[in-house]
Amino acid sequence: MTQEILKYQEIDGKLKKLESELSNLPERKKAAEMQNHLKEGQIRLEKVETNAQKTMENFNKAKAYYNELMVKIEALSKTIETADLDKIRELQHSKNNFYQMIEKLEKELSKINTQLTIVNNEYNTIIKNAKIAKTNLEDCRQKFADAKQKLEPQINSLKVELTEAGKKVDKKLLEKYLQKRESKFPVIVKNINGTCGGCRMAISASKMGEFKDNGYIECENCGRFIVE
Ligand SMILES: [Zn+2]
Repeated sequence: MTQEILKYQEIDGKLKKLESELSNLPERKKAAEMQNHLKEGQIRLEKVETNAQKTMENFNKAKAYYNELMVKIEALSKTIETADLDKIRELQHSKNNFYQMIEKLEKELSKINTQLTIVNNEYNTIIKNAKIAKTNLEDCRQKFADAKQKLEPQINSLKVELTEAGKKVDKKLLEKYLQKRESKFPVIVKNINGTCGGCRMAISASKMGEFKDNGYIECENCGRFIVE
């Protein structure tokens, strides 16, 4: 009875090795990294977009104000032509004020222009990096697919073999084995001079007696099945 489960475990071990080989392929990890890069780029792009929108809003406000001032100055200039001296001084004063405001606005517009350039550069950088990440991602996916294609037939035939071997194993034992498979492989270990072949804990005398019942015992420490 223990021979069958040992045979099962042997096939299972080969399968596990191939499966972990597949999931540990560097291309797989690299692909995940690239995907993260792309996601980060997307988040940054959204921020850049918000900044650009705000900057454009400021730009349009400043531009509207600028145009408004220009219209007023034009109107003033025309009034000056027909006004008397006092009026002219007063108008000249307003005009100067307007020019000061225009100067301020021009500075503001130049600041906005710089911000737009920064936003634009950032946008270009993100797009450039995204393109690189996308190319790398496709490359990784292709390599992973190639590796998978090579390993898959082996994995599938081992799965068939494993199912066949499982039919010969005691159902309850197999069930327990499958529960332990993920956390403590190999599940079936040998009795090494009275110790568990998995965790090296000494097998108690009372447990030793149980060997006769099933041909195996369950380690009191690690829970693996010990066979003689
Ligand atoms: Zn043990």
